[in-house]
Amino acid sequence: MVLRDRRTWLVRGHNIRKTDCFPRWVEEGICATSWHSVGYLAPHPVMTRDEHGDVFNTAYGGGGRVGTRATECWYFLNAIQPGDLVIVSGSLKPGHLPVKVGVVTSHPLWRPNDPTACRARRTDWLAHDDNAIDRDEFRTDIGGFLKAHRASVWPVDEVHDRNKYGEITSDLLRLLGTRGINLSPQTVEAPPLSTYALRCAEWDLRDRPERIAATGSKFKRDQELRALVAARSDRCENPDCLTPAEYYAALDSKGMPILEVDHVQDLGLEGADRPDNMIVLCPNCHALKSRSTRSGSMREKLREIALRLHEQAAGG
Ligand SMILES: [Zn+2]
Repeated sequence: MVLRDRRTWLVRGHNIRKTDCFPRWVEEGICATSWHSVGYLAPHPVMTRDEHGDVFNTAYGGGGRVGTRATECWYFLNAIQPGDLVIVSGSLKPGHLPVKVGVVTSHPLWRPNDPTACRARRTDWLAHDDNAIDRDEFRTDIGGFLKAHRASVWPVDEVHDRNKYGEITSDLLRLLGTRGINLSPQTVEAPPLSTYALRCAEWDLRDRPERIAATGSKFKRDQELRALVAARSDRCENPDCLTPAEYYAALDSKGMPILEVDHVQDLGLEGADRPDNMIVLCPNCHALKSRSTRSGSMREKLREIALRLHEQAAGG
């Protein structure tokens, strides 16, 4: 466990193509950023800050604006920690600024099937309906500030110290304080990223097309991935499994575990070769899932379960 001070972040990635995604964030209990076209980015230390920046330069061609994007994405993935506060300021209605405050509770989740929120953090949103602030309460005009932070992730301390909108930011903090929201630094416990999460990240990086090793390594990669998922559970991951628990540790005659690792959505049916599409099953449940009349419904049920167990193991 690492002890650290709580920090406050301004996150403005919820306005996607003029749609306010914030209601969905509340519904799903997340805050998010996207840069979907950049693809998967592994957390530090699997990916260094230079490597992270290189991916953005390759995708967008370099330059100052790219550096800003890369920095914001880096903050979201690596600098925000579980326990930190995030502030989201909504679209500016005439004279009125809806402000929401949440507590981040997870490490970053990679959700490739959700292009507008593909990098997410689980977030407990505090009473977000009661925090509206009138434009008049600010000492200066906030229109430019909101425009500048239309899609960004910034540590509030840094905005305050270095940014020309420092006065507005300190106003925002002061006004939130009058709503009874405690924004002062607190010491919270933040678990480090799990070994499972870091190994998944290494796996994801190697899975990039340009990094796939020469033919012949496929079998080894497959075995590595299965071992990674197998290490996630010491039991069948089907919650309705009826196999007695003492059998889960049993070995077969070759000394291999009887628990098996299966792709929830088969690779042949466009399933992803990723740990969040894989599940640990005992031989009975594996047979039910792969060749019984219940196959279809089991696959749908296990899809959710595999994703949840993966995120739990990864610290999400
Ligand atoms: Zn089972």
